[in-house]
Amino acid sequence: MYTHLQTYDSYEDSYDRITVDSARQDMATFTTLYEDFFKIMPDEPRKSIRATIHLNIIYMATVGYDLIERYDNRNDAIRDMMACDRAKDEQVANARLTSEPLCQHCSMTGLRITNKLLTSRSGSYKSQEVLFMLKCSHCDTNSAYWEDGTPHERLTIYCPKCNSTMNEKTATTVKAVTTTYMCSSCGHSYKDKYDLTRKEEAVDPNFEADRVRFCLQDEKVRDELRRAKQRFEEMARIGKEYMDKEDNKPVYDSVDKLVKLKIAEIVPLLQPVLEKAGYAELGLDKPEMGKDVLIGFNCLDTKSNRNDHDSAKTLKNLIKKQLETTNWRLTGDGVRYRLGYLNGRLRAYEREEDLKQLVMKSRKSKPKQEAGEPDKKNNYTIKNENGETIIL
Ligand SMILES: [Zn+2]
Ligand SMILES: [Zn+2]
Repeated sequence: MYTHLQTYDSYEDSYDRITVDSARQDMATFTTLYEDFFKIMPDEPRKSIRATIHLNIIYMATVGYDLIERYDNRNDAIRDMMACDRAKDEQVANARLTSEPLCQHCSMTGLRITNKLLTSRSGSYKSQEVLFMLKCSHCDTNSAYWEDGTPHERLTIYCPKCNSTMNEKTATTVKAVTTTYMCSSCGHSYKDKYDLTRKEEAVDPNFEADRVRFCLQDEKVRDELRRAKQRFEEMARIGKEYMDKEDNKPVYDSVDKLVKLKIAEIVPLLQPVLEKAGYAELGLDKPEMGKDVLIGFNCLDTKSNRNDHDSAKTLKNLIKKQLETTNWRLTGDGVRYRLGYLNGRLRAYEREEDLKQLVMKSRKSKPKQEAGEPDKKNNYTIKNENGETIIL
């Protein structure tokens, strides 16, 4: 009986043959692109650095990446192929006829199973099913049934000479299945042979050399290719970053223009403006050093006729405006006011990505601020259970 599962070597062999075949085709593509490169740039010396870099990139894209991928997937792919074939063998081994088959020629029982095949039912694209080949001891002919008891549909063969129905007889050996067709009317006959032996493939004189080369059997070659892959991926990453910087140039320019304030520079920046507006004794808490740096601030309102809401709002807007060109911002907790004591928190933005976001956010809200309109929509007043007024 024909088994699907083969030795490990034969899977390695067939996997490598596919690798070699596809690599040869890819190499042909690369060779064409190589020639095209020098057609477009006829004055470029063949070994110039520019040509080398370009051609290396083209080589990696057309050949190199696939070679690494096929090398890396080899063990898994072979394991999958073996599992698949093992499952086929199990399906055949476990298949049982569900009912007693009758001879398709003389309708007698007691047929002997001569073979089980895994094959697709005609007209069905479903998975393969087991077909039982049976021999009748009474009339010495073959019958075939599917596992579920359905008889195998046989095509009626007509005699090419007199158009009568042909009888057929099948003889199976290890090497071949031979079917003899015989005309019941005029006696014309012919044979059809299905070869079961594996065809000797035409010897490929370059296969072993190409196998070493394209299946990356040499560790040095393999490592060099991997390093090339890393280099090009790095180049692609830098290229992308560069494109991003070009696309967002105004944003990056603004990021560069942001004043990166040290903690010690905050009070000197804010104090004069706040004092002018009637806020005294600006002080900072100890900074909280987490993923971001947060720092609490507090001051006293010296204007007796200013109410809680106005005081907190004025302070918020002053700080916001003063910090606009820096990498510091008021946090979302807002500014709190109670009995003329005001406090809140500031956050420092340090990472380039965060600074980029900061700039994009303030660019979006810029036109509104430039128009000099008070951004009322962004101000919410809350009074908490401690009686503090909070401007968010
Ligand atoms: Zn029979
Ligand atoms: Zn005939």
